[in-house]
Amino acid sequence: MARPPLLVLNKAHYPVTVLGHGRRVGLWLQGCSIRCRNCVSQDTWDAARGVPTRVEEILAWCRSKVREGLDGITISGGEPFDQPAALAALLTALQRWRARAHLPLDFLCYSGYPLKTLEARHAAILGKLDVLIPEPYADALPQGGPWRGSANQPLCLLTPLAKRRYANLPESLPKTMQISQEDGKLWMIGIPARGDMAALETLCAQRGLQLDAISWR
Ligand code: SF4
Repeated sequence: MARPPLLVLNKAHYPVTVLGHGRRVGLWLQGCSIRCRNCVSQDTWDAARGVPTRVEEILAWCRSKVREGLDGITISGGEPFDQPAALAALLTALQRWRARAHLPLDFLCYSGYPLKTLEARHAAILGKLDVLIPEPYADALPQGGPWRGSANQPLCLLTPLAKRRYANLPESLPKTMQISQEDGKLWMIGIPARGDMAALETLCAQRGLQLDAISWR
């Protein structure tokens, strides 16, 4: 039997508490061909900088988080749909695991592609998701609702589980960020409010901390 394609990963995080319901695994995929103006994750654009990773390895890591209170998986990047075969393989493995283990996990995926494009080209992948947040980040528009960078990005609830968990969210949920430290790097997780990253740089500079190799320009 053919092995599933490798997923090119930027980073896996746990727990992520600012991008979806509850405590989540965050899988950041490496490589994005869309390149929205003022994207805060420009470190994920170059596919060659990622780590090719086996789906089984990712699945085993997700499994290890169940005893730590895992509620769902958030897939972002980078552009997940730039790796459609590997993304489909990952979601198939996650779906099988969830069904066998009877776990109430939801799968949420971001994409910078328009919803119509995803529906036309990747309907099978959408069928494996509970929540989709599509459309490119639009810096010129107002900010979006919970977990969305700009107002053009809808929260698409694709399954009954997603509707139960997400249908009654207040649109005014405040933007919150997590910061984790690993391998001498600071990792920002979440959707910043406009101006947050500049404010963070200023605060760090006032305390004598120079940020370098930053991802938002
Ligand atoms: S916001 Fe998302 S889709 Fe847009 S350039 Fe950044 S990673 Fe790519």
